[in-house]
Amino acid sequence: MKQTELLDIILERLKASGGRMTKKRECVLGALLSMDRPASAEEIRERAELPASDLVTVYRNLETFEHLGVLQRVPLENGTQLFELTAPDEHYHHLICRKCHKTERLDICVGHEVVKRAKAHGYSKIAHVMEVYGLCEDCEKS
Ligand SMILES: [Zn+2]
Ligand SMILES: [Zn+2]
Repeated sequence: MKQTELLDIILERLKASGGRMTKKRECVLGALLSMDRPASAEEIRERAELPASDLVTVYRNLETFEHLGVLQRVPLENGTQLFELTAPDEHYHHLICRKCHKTERLDICVGHEVVKRAKAHGYSKIAHVMEVYGLCEDCEKS
């Protein structure tokens, strides 16, 4: 999905949820749209050119986008999280370098079998997370 299409969906959903497009929200959204890989809240704040005191605002906006169904969290091994915009009903699994945090999308989803089993347990609204960690080629060499 193109970024412009995704932006239309986000604006539509924001409006439908009764949310307003504030100046700061626009900055955070612009930063997310300009990212070509998942980024930390701190990186997003910097890209959005918001002061350090606005980190909480960034988190609040990330939560809003998550509730709108257009933001995926990417957990790192150390428990911190990266964030990226994803189209509704899409999600990705990533290959993440544990040293430089370089992130690549894996073009597979191993979730179908897992979801089937979870449904067999009587669960609905099932989500799954699977990220793969390792050392990238560049970090291995250095
Ligand atoms: Zn690396
Ligand atoms: Zn999956």
